[in-house]
Amino acid sequence: MEKMKAALMYGPNDIRVEMVDKPACPKDGLILKIMAVGLCGSDIRNLTSDSRKGNYPFIYGHEIVGVVDEIGAEETKYQVGERLFLFPGTYCMECDDCISGHSENCTNVEKDLAGTGGFAQYVAVSAKKIQLGGIYKIPDNVSYDAASLGEPLTSVYACEENIGVGYDDTLVIIGAGPIGCFMAQLAKIRGAQKVIMIDINQTRLEMSKEFGVDEIINSANEDPIEAVRKLTCGLGADKVISANPSNSAQAQSIFMVKKGGLVVFFGGVPKGSMTELDTNYIHYNNIWIKGHFGASYMQSKKAYALAISDKFPTEKFITHRLPLDQINEGIELTRSGEAIKVVLFPQE
Ligand SMILES: [Zn+2]
Ligand SMILES: [Zn+2]
Repeated sequence: MEKMKAALMYGPNDIRVEMVDKPACPKDGLILKIMAVGLCGSDIRNLTSDSRKGNYPFIYGHEIVGVVDEIGAEETKYQVGERLFLFPGTYCMECDDCISGHSENCTNVEKDLAGTGGFAQYVAVSAKKIQLGGIYKIPDNVSYDAASLGEPLTSVYACEENIGVGYDDTLVIIGAGPIGCFMAQLAKIRGAQKVIMIDINQTRLEMSKEFGVDEIINSANEDPIEAVRKLTCGLGADKVISANPSNSAQAQSIFMVKKGGLVVFFGGVPKGSMTELDTNYIHYNNIWIKGHFGASYMQSKKAYALAISDKFPTEKFITHRLPLDQINEGIELTRSGEAIKVVLFPQE
């Protein structure tokens, strides 16, 4: 059995880089040699909590790009040497949601087909995943690390497309993490007039100014609701996106939006936790509340195209490039807010 390097999770905060068996090439699939893999906010959440309920070891990592290393005898679509981006969604393309263009709501998602196993040197891609799609080629002039950002940009892209962020909008984003910075940059590309960023981390707030943020509010030092009102002539913002794991940020967000405005709960909060909402306020102010998760195949395709185009300053988001061996350092850099986006290189 050939061996490969992988970062195995043995439990919360227990991640070890070890040699494991290299996956065998499926006869109708392929083996991708992973050239870069992004470290995602959800990876951090999974790696630092008992996300597998004791079912370890496990290899996370879903922001996968690489080069085809082996082809099964029955696989005809791809060739050895092709550079590919793997979108982790695996939608059936047969249910009503899929055929109506909302594959993000697919009820027959093929779990375990893709979307994990990226913190390793190689990953097997099954025939089923190849058939369902969401695999895109990386042009020669695009770096692997830039292509890896297609995945995190995808759900951001889908969110702003779904709620129609555009010209005239004053947008509040709560959470100046990588996702918040993507949100801000994309909102500006879509024409938003003003982007207001709220966070408790001053370093992150200052960094977010690089990505189109017009005003920053440090909610550790001032009341973010009052501050938003002050910046919007007392009216509130058109749209508010809560892109952080805090229940209290969600509760506060409804007071930051104008009458008839829209609040999006983008970031997941700790599993099982409850957010207390003033529903009378929502009622009397005609506020819309929307959840957001994922993206359709079409949105993943468009977001990936944007990520690898020169319209989006993709490379600017990558603050740290580390070999896979330094994954624990990458986790710490992301947690502390020092890094915007960490990309890991399993072949180094
Ligand atoms: Zn991700
Ligand atoms: Zn479906």
